Amino acid sequence: MTPVAPESAKDADAALFAHIRGGIRIGALFRKPVVDPVDLRILLEYALGISHVQLVIQSERELGEKEAHIVLELLMRRYRGEPVAHIVGEREFYGLPFSITPDVLIPRPETELLVELAISRLPENGVLLDLGTGSGAIAVAVAHERPDVSVTATDVSPAALDVAKENARRNLAAGRDIRFYQGEWFAALPAPFRFDLIVSNPPYIVVGDVHLSAGDLRYEPQGALTDFGDGLSAFRELTAHAVGWLNPNGWLLMEHGYDQAEAVRKRLLANGFASVQSFKDLAGIERVSGGVFPG
Ligand code: SAM
Ligand code: GLN
Repeated sequence: MTPVAPESAKDADAALFAHIRGGIRIGALFRKPVVDPVDLRILLEYALGISHVQLVIQSERELGEKEAHIVLELLMRRYRGEPVAHIVGEREFYGLPFSITPDVLIPRPETELLVELAISRLPENGVLLDLGTGSGAIAVAVAHERPDVSVTATDVSPAALDVAKENARRNLAAGRDIRFYQGEWFAALPAPFRFDLIVSNPPYIVVGDVHLSAGDLRYEPQGALTDFGDGLSAFRELTAHAVGWLNPNGWLLMEHGYDQAEAVRKRLLANGFASVQSFKDLAGIERVSGGVFPG
């Protein structure tokens, strides 16, 4: 018997996509998904310029030659690893559309917990600080939900701040301003000030963690993901200095990694915070820790 020549990886990939041509129905793409079905849905909506509801009722629609070609290109980019949020330039967070570029962390669903906790703790006409705002996800979501709250946001990355400003323009009513400052943690702030609540989702992945070089994280700014150390340096910095920037009874709330809650609580207690506690995300993982500055 003649052995069958092994297909090259490239041929195998080409075979995987061979059915995506003019005339294919939308339903057929979902019966043989070449990427994650949720990614497929978002990419199709983007390629065809239709809403989720429109997509759902068009499963019998046949793609034209040109449409099929556009869809094929997008699916191949995703298949090769590019994050969906980068391909479509957008990600939904807290029900709002955020513009996303490779300069910012792609907002994560678990960060919505931090937004919820902030919204429920901010007093009427309170003042909020979001340190390391990235795409502006937390600051913009809170500002959108709480028009009474005055919001300040910082980042060390000027490119990230440009994206955050764009997202504020995009999602907030005209005249509803967020004050943005560039710099390292509290040093970014131009003058002494007191906040009712300080939130941060800082970089907390340990340097050299395998996840940094796998999946979507490869495409995100390393400086948004890791502190290039033990993953805790931002928490040391924030817990040590926040008391100088909080009103009495003000909260400091920080998102952290799945195994960092105890270490973060320890830093909060060592720096004089009261009511120190951790909060679980939807997966049941302690994801946010915080405490109150007694004054
Ligand atoms: N807040 C956004 C969110 O939750 O999607 C982005 C969070 S991302 C994990 C961390 C952010 O902190 C990045 O935008 C990064 O540029 C910023 N950052 C890193 N080091 C910083 C520092 N020393 N001072 C201020 N911001 C910093
Ligand atoms: N939660 C992100 C992740 O593990 C990390 C973001 C961060 O370091 N704050 O993908």
